[in-house]
Amino acid sequence: MTDNFIRKIEKLAAEIGRPVNLMEVCGTHTQVISRFGIREILPKNIKLITGPGCPVCVTAQRDIDAIVNLALASVPVVTYGDALRVPGYFGSLDGAREQGAKVYDVYSVTDAVELAKKIPELVFFGLGFETTTPMTAWGIQQGLTVYSAHKIFLPAMEALLAMGEIKIDGFIDPGHVSVVLGTAPYAKLKIPQVITGFEMEDVLAGILLLLNQIKNKDTQVLNQYSRVVKDAGNEKIRKIIAEVFEVGDGDWRGFGIIPKSGLKIRNKYKQFDAKIKYKDILDKVDFSHSKDPDGCRCGEVIRGLMESKRCPLFGKICTPDNPVGPCMVSVEGACNVGYRYLK
Ligand code: SF4
Repeated sequence: MTDNFIRKIEKLAAEIGRPVNLMEVCGTHTQVISRFGIREILPKNIKLITGPGCPVCVTAQRDIDAIVNLALASVPVVTYGDALRVPGYFGSLDGAREQGAKVYDVYSVTDAVELAKKIPELVFFGLGFETTTPMTAWGIQQGLTVYSAHKIFLPAMEALLAMGEIKIDGFIDPGHVSVVLGTAPYAKLKIPQVITGFEMEDVLAGILLLLNQIKNKDTQVLNQYSRVVKDAGNEKIRKIIAEVFEVGDGDWRGFGIIPKSGLKIRNKYKQFDAKIKYKDILDKVDFSHSKDPDGCRCGEVIRGLMESKRCPLFGKICTPDNPVGPCMVSVEGACNVGYRYLK
């Protein structure tokens, strides 16, 4: 099966006869592509580029600095494990914990809700895209206080195309996000796209579908992952998100502010919004230093402008045990994946 896909990809690549850049924008795809060495088996003119698919990586330094400052000001904080290790100007949540701050890690929002029953002042640091947001919304409805760094994904893809820093011939759309969104919203990008699953054959089939479109100068959103992604997405989940969150500007590492890409907690739930509840603490934080750490090129890695291994700190100063930036922290980050599979 795999050989068959590769033969067909080689044939199409030869027929297209020019360099083709395909971008994957999902951290799980990034891992699958590296684990199976898919980049290495593709024809020379077909390049796979990693984009902004890692939720921890794209969380703005300002949000990391904000949540660390809450922890340092004795507000108990809980979040997912990866987010604890992201270094900010004021250190990481892990570092704050070492200094005595009450910082907890959980596998799920359900665990955070349970913890909040024992620690009512607890703040959940919510981050990620349409995949993690519904559970955070549910948590808020259960009375969990949240600092929201949640984002919606499509505007980042639009921003990448609008910035024009890199030529993108087609997207492998985010598989998990697509379960919620469905296929229709992507059509506005007017570029070849495919939604694929997470087996090696899924990714190869997706590449084949993209190359077919490129050869035929087509710009469709093809759904190779229809066993999981329905064209209409999941309206019930979208309603849960919309009930608790409203769309606002989003702050992304590597991009800055992307209009209408952030999710803020609706007024109706403002008593659970940590940005309001702890405004007095956050107002005193000096965010002028909230930038990528010195020498860290995460911003460029996230926008697909640079392969992680080209960062001068990669594997020398910056490793998964001693990460300089978030792209080396998260298992979905391009630098972490690169370190584990490409080094
Ligand atoms: Fe940043 Fe480390 Fe990646 Fe370089 S290797 S871009 S320092 S996370």
